[in-house]
Amino acid sequence: MSVFPRIAVVGAGPAGLLLACRLHRAGRPFTLFEADAAADARAQGGMLDLHAETGQAALRSAGLFEDFQRWARYEDQGTRLFDAEGRLLLEDDGQAGDRPEIDRGHLRDLLLAALPGRVHWGHALQQASLVDEEVELRFGNGDVQRFDLVVGADGAWSRLRALLTDVRPLHAGISLYELSLADIDRAHPQLSALVGHGTLIAKRGQYTLFAQRNADAHVRVYASLPQVLGEGELAPSLSRADLLQHFADWHPDLRRLIAEAGDAVRPWPIYRLPPEHRWVHRPTVTLIGDAAHLMPPAGEGANLALRDAADLADALCSHDWHAAVRAHEQTMMARAEVAAASAQRLLTANSLAYLLEVLGGDTADVGDVACAVPSR
Ligand SMILES: Cc1cc2nc3c(=O)[nH]c(=O)nc-3n(C[C@H](O)[C@H](O)[C@H](O)COP(=O)(O)OP(=O)(O)OC[C@H]3O[C@@H](n4cnc5c(N)ncnc54)[C@H](O)[C@@H]3O)c2cc1C
Repeated sequence: MSVFPRIAVVGAGPAGLLLACRLHRAGRPFTLFEADAAADARAQGGMLDLHAETGQAALRSAGLFEDFQRWARYEDQGTRLFDAEGRLLLEDDGQAGDRPEIDRGHLRDLLLAALPGRVHWGHALQQASLVDEEVELRFGNGDVQRFDLVVGADGAWSRLRALLTDVRPLHAGISLYELSLADIDRAHPQLSALVGHGTLIAKRGQYTLFAQRNADAHVRVYASLPQVLGEGELAPSLSRADLLQHFADWHPDLRRLIAEAGDAVRPWPIYRLPPEHRWVHRPTVTLIGDAAHLMPPAGEGANLALRDAADLADALCSHDWHAAVRAHEQTMMARAEVAAASAQRLLTANSLAYLLEVLGGDTADVGDVACAVPSR
């Protein structure tokens, strides 16, 4: 067996944490660095549905599936698709589904609980350079350390990616604006019935509204708009009133998802890497998750990040880890290319019919009942 490398994992998102859990469980040495000052330094955002072959399989491989099931919401897998006129085009109650939802914060908590004291918080990587056969990491807090192998799990704006490729994220042509409806069942019962148990999607052209039911009757609403942004450019700030202008002639019940939300509006400019991009393998640096294959959100990014991490752990724990990591990179990037191409099509598609087809609906089933869907 090759000598086991001194490994650094940079980034404690889903990818970095799952990899660390696997290495910890296998008794392999590693150091995990995270830019956030502490576990509770920032809110973790919305919910994720974990898929059997990727996210769920990765958690199983780390012995965390039972912990996941304690938080998983099998009852919130439903999907409703509307057009802008409020006609219900598709309704799937999700009862037959195997993509349970989990809030990001709960996922992070269960991964962190398996890694007591192992995260080096407050370590924002500033610079990574190749020195002899090692990688030198310089952090914002002044710490400098060297490793044999560094895993970049540092997300969309990875600082480690530049050691492997010149490719940079490009704006995907849309930005999402996130709003919140707190305590929806009591405070907004009609909207609660409209959203149902899962995700509501309403679409016209390149404009889309998503409403996702999170834990504790908290619904996150995302208004998706076409935009043109340059590299790294922030999306312009928009108020609820601005957003309502963009959806001015939509059905009143759909507009209420914006009108009745809280005042805070968080922009998410959506960036992506070219789906076909690859890098020339180096034995000292590798990437997983968004650092490797950033794509528009379409329900796959966190799932792939978890699966990448599980597969990389298998490779690192194998007899010839050098060769196994190289093979893993090829498999990972081929898998991500397919998902990235379909995510880009899905999110920027101009056509409601395309979305209906992807969700498994039948255009002949287009309903004629406008909004105010009764509660089940
Ligand atoms: C609005 C939105 C909705 C989404 N919805 C879904 C969904 O429903 N389902 C799904 O599967 N995916 C979804 N995604 C995608 C998903 O969030 C990502 O694919 C996933 O979080 C990637 O995990 P990761 O661990 O690779 O990166 P990240 O989650 O980005 O984690 C990276 C970590 O690295 C840390 N870090 C960054 N830079 C440094 C540095 N220089 N030094 C040290 N640490 C650093 C960060 O603080 C962070 O903790 C969505 C994305 C967005 C934007």
